[in-house]
This record gives sequence, structure tokens and C-alpha cells, in this order.
Amino acid sequence: MKKILEIQNLTKVYSIGSLFSRSKITAVENVSFYIKPSEIFTLAGESGCGKTTTAKIILGFEEPTSGKILFEDNPISIKKGKRYHFLKKVQAVFQNPFESFNPLLTVDDIFFETIYNYRVTTNKEEAIKLIDEKLKVVGLTFDDIHGRYPSELSGGQLQRASIARSLLIDPSVLITDEPVSMVDASLRMSIVNLFAKLKSQIGLSVIYITHDLATAYYVSDRIAIMFRGNIVEMGPVDEVLIRPKHPYTKLLRESIPEADPQKKWDKEITITDVEYEEYLRQGCKFAGRCPVAMEICKKEVPKEILVDDVLVKCHMYDKNFE
Ligand code: SF4
Repeated sequence: MKKILEIQNLTKVYSIGSLFSRSKITAVENVSFYIKPSEIFTLAGESGCGKTTTAKIILGFEEPTSGKILFEDNPISIKKGKRYHFLKKVQAVFQNPFESFNPLLTVDDIFFETIYNYRVTTNKEEAIKLIDEKLKVVGLTFDDIHGRYPSELSGGQLQRASIARSLLIDPSVLITDEPVSMVDASLRMSIVNLFAKLKSQIGLSVIYITHDLATAYYVSDRIAIMFRGNIVEMGPVDEVLIRPKHPYTKLLRESIPEADPQKKWDKEITITDVEYEEYLRQGCKFAGRCPVAMEICKKEVPKEILVDDVLVKCHMYDKNFE
């Protein structure tokens, strides 16, 4: 099986608190997954589960405490600023398209800047042709953005433009973090459908990061559910969301809080007291809320167990504890 991008045992530990009462939380703990060519893989979970930190590490905005990232089977540097080739192949689409574009430049100038920075071409006519071609993939044209500032486009148009801009350098993988949470509800499915179109028409792989299980179910091939820095369940989307095995996935299906629309990638990590307790918990981090918790759950970290093609991190499925 060909893996285009693979994450192995990624861990990120933060120190939080004041100088006199510092403690450590493991925001991402031994996270491993891969994505195949032409696949949509979703990382889902509540806000504060570690999915955005995972994306930031892959994109080089954060350095992990430990772990490996492989692109087409080759390890890539986990240090910031040393990934020019990798970052050409792995592009990001963020939650708020208005923050992705410099408000002082016209949208077409921002497109030209990307083309020149990545040395795609220095010929203006060729650049316009390329921009128009990529915009058409997302349902826009060069004329729609020519001479217009980001504030003159709607949120939906700008998010489409942001996807088109990422396509200018022919990436193999798109990482999208809550790409529809700030887009008008009526337009969300059209953006999500675009990912499916990019996958089938140009063979793009997409890592879709979301709290929204409805769109995740609609568009994904496989899904991983994260809780307090851990992947607790991972497998084909039908298995995980129609026949969830982990007690947290079952709970998540019934009630999932809205993503925080104010969330910003450059904000310091902040967590509530409950989240803090869960992050520090020994054994299974979900034990405090799990309706079927056992004694062992408070003491031992559950292992990953394969059940019906799905990886589940829960003592309930461990034959040793039956
Ligand atoms: Fe619940 Fe125990 Fe499974 Fe954790 S390991 S989800 S506490 S049953």
C-alpha cells in the first residue's frame, strides 16, 4: 500500500502555568496515522483534543517533542524552516479565509506573489492562465478576483480562492483545519464537495480537520477520533461513525460542541480545568466521563486493538481484561 504522508509516534509536550507552579501537558501523545494518494482522511474531535496541534506540527509551525514525519517514505526534518520541498507538496487551507489573505493587497496580486515566490513562472500571461485554470477548479475565474481586495469577496468565495491558491504549486496533500466553520451554513457542503472533487479529478489527498461529524461522514474515506491528545478510534468512516466502538466516539456522535470561531493558530494554547484534569489523568484519559469505565481504566493506559478493521484504544476490547 502506498502512503503519501505518514506520521509516526508524534508527541508534543507543553509546559504551562507560572514560574512557581509549572506543569506539563501532553497535547499530542504518540499519534500515528498515514494518508494514501487520492484519499480524504479526517481528524475529528472536540476543540482542544490535539488535532490542530498535530496539523501545526506537520506544517512546520510547531516542532514536536518527539516523533517522525515521512513524505513518500522519506523522513522529513521536524525542524522549522527546513522543509521547502515538503511544504510545496503539502499545502494548508485555514479556518478563516480573511486571515489567510493580506487585506492590503488585491487577491490576484496575492496569487501572483505565490507564483513568483515558488518560481512557478515569471511570465505574467502564463501566470494569469494558471490562476484562471486553478480558480475554475473551485468554481471561480480570474475576472472574479482581478483587482478586488479580500474584503470585497464573500467568505465562501474567499475560501474557494484560498483553495485555488494552494493548488497553484500542484501539492499532493491539502491540510484543511475547520475550513467551513466560518462559511455561511448554506455554502458549507459546496466547499466540502470541492475536496471530494479535488480527490477524484486531480488525485489530491486531503487531511480534513473538523469537529463536524456530518461533513466528515459525507466526505471522508477514513477517520481518526482524537481525545486529549490521543487517537482513540481510527478506521473506515462507515465503521467508525455508523458502528462506533470507543465509548468516546459514541458520545461524540450524540453531542459535539461547536468549534470555536475565534480560534486562531497563533494563540497560546489554553485549556479549561476539566480538560487540564483529563490531560493529566493516569490510565485512560476518558475514564472520568466514560459510562462503562472499569477499575483498570484508572490505572493503565489502554492499548490499541484492531477490531473489524478499526483501531480502538479501549480496555473493553482487550482480551486480557475480559
Ligand atoms: Fe471507558 Fe475504560 Fe474504554 Fe477508557 S478504556 S473508554 S474508561 S472502558
